[in-house]
Amino acid sequence: MKHICPNCGQKTFSPLLKARCGGMSSTGKRCPECGTRCVNGKVSLAVHSVFSLIGFAAVIYNYFTFLSPKVFLLGGVLPFVLSLVLPFIYDMFFGKLIEAIKRE
Ligand SMILES: [Zn+2]
Repeated sequence: MKHICPNCGQKTFSPLLKARCGGMSSTGKRCPECGTRCVNGKVSLAVHSVFSLIGFAAVIYNYFTFLSPKVFLLGGVLPFVLSLVLPFIYDMFFGKLIEAIKRE
């Protein structure tokens, strides 16, 4: 399952390469076929923002209401790790690529 390049329209981006393209503020990765730099689009940006907020809120909440190490692991560390892993998985399999705006 490969993703379509926005410039040449060919299925050239593997899931891992697409995830490594980064968001709209990054310079992106080149398409193996036509060389256009591509990044993940707006929906990916929203997904990253929402998950970062949830992860941040979980960490802050657990920092001030430390109940037990077990609750800290499940309610603080786990959401933080998921807030890093889930957007990466989203980038691998969902969302569209767009051409990079940022200059190299
Ligand atoms: Zn291309």
